[in-house]
Amino acid sequence: MERPLTQYIHPGCPPFDIREYEMTGGYSALRKALSSMTPKEVQDLVKDSGLKGRGGAGFSTGIKWSVVPMGEDAPRLKYLIANADEMEPGTFKDRLLLEGNPHQLIEGMILAAFAIQAEESFIFLRWAYKKAAQLLRKSIHEAYKAGFLGKNILDSGFSLEMHLHTGVGRYMCGEETALLNALEGKRATPRAKPPYPQISGLYGKPTIVNNVETLCNIPHIVNNGVEWFKGLSNSEDSGTKLYGVSGKVNNPGCWELPMGVTIRELIEEHAGGMKNGYQLKGVLPGGASTDFLTAEHLDIKMDFASVQKAGSRLGTGTMVVMDDATCPVGFVHNLQHFFAQESCGWCTPCREGLPWVEKMLLSLEQGSGTAADMELLEMHTHMLGPGNTFCALAPGAMEPLQSALKYFKDDFEKHISLHKCPYE
Ligand code: NAD
Repeated sequence: MERPLTQYIHPGCPPFDIREYEMTGGYSALRKALSSMTPKEVQDLVKDSGLKGRGGAGFSTGIKWSVVPMGEDAPRLKYLIANADEMEPGTFKDRLLLEGNPHQLIEGMILAAFAIQAEESFIFLRWAYKKAAQLLRKSIHEAYKAGFLGKNILDSGFSLEMHLHTGVGRYMCGEETALLNALEGKRATPRAKPPYPQISGLYGKPTIVNNVETLCNIPHIVNNGVEWFKGLSNSEDSGTKLYGVSGKVNNPGCWELPMGVTIRELIEEHAGGMKNGYQLKGVLPGGASTDFLTAEHLDIKMDFASVQKAGSRLGTGTMVVMDDATCPVGFVHNLQHFFAQESCGWCTPCREGLPWVEKMLLSLEQGSGTAADMELLEMHTHMLGPGNTFCALAPGAMEPLQSALKYFKDDFEKHISLHKCPYE
């Protein structure tokens, strides 16, 4: 199969420098767009390709770009930001792209900036991605030297500056408006939407925030066109997807595959099946902030609509497999510990609710929980659910909890009746 994003990425091998990237067709999409396309044509191409955001939400990239004011009345300053603050537990797909072929991201960013006519761009990078930071710094420098960044790129009249910003390791900064506040040097709390950043973003100017994997698709769409991109997929969602599997499988990893492979194919073929002595008990299909699916869902396609229909979300497409020797209560407690710690504290339900949920789960896990705790937990999944908090952090945290209460209720009840963890 074609692997446009990772065809030259081989874990363990050195990443491409600019010379190698250009030798394999790198920056040809930029030359093509700047010499023969208008910004609107690039926008329309991406919209028609059906590319959906790969950060987790799956919003149409072309529609998102089309909201940015264009034309003579548009603000002079606009910004393009690559969201490389990959912190969703179980997710390590953007890291592969950043460490394997940093120029692919840079070219995607220049094309995206051209499409919305932004003259300033930032890569907001996860603090822990030290190797990626080093590579990006070097690659941005190479791109400036080659004339792909800076003033009057390739004599087109289009100019773009690019900066690398490393975060401080807070999950909240991956939320696009908290990211904007962080870049402005403010406390990283979310902003109310609307207005969306496309209208009022960084320093109040129109801003697009796109995920790394999303941006890496752009050069390939510009070079190969809409039909090619649609044809890469096995489903209604176009393109390929970087999928990951972690947990007690034989070959945990990350692979670029046609959008819409089944969960079974991912676990049994690519991840080599469950390790000897372990059975699959549950799967979080798209990182920690998605609902559990179970063995009955193995034939579900990993695309946005199919996973949603099954009761969860594709999210980042990097699944976490829970085996039958792992206590679901302890597993969910661990996740809630993370989310409670990462709450930015801006809205009361999230700030107060998540630590309370974590405490109840700990007491259940230690055998001192009661039946009333189960009702309280259930109630919290609604109180911290969509519409009741300022951003998606707490509703995301409730997804694994609400589905664990549905699929693994017996396990919760055994903790109460036995006064201890049955998995001990
Ligand atoms: P969202 O659905 O609110 O927005 C997604 C994108 O679409 C945003 O850029 C937003 O500006 C745009 N958008 C949405 N509605 C729009 C409209 N009407 N007009 C114009 N633009 C619009 O989701 P979100 O809160 O940005 O992201 C939540 C997702 O992030 C979750 O699905 C989760 O899986 C994922 N996530 C990923 C990571 C990671 O490390 N990659 C970490 C945490 C969460």
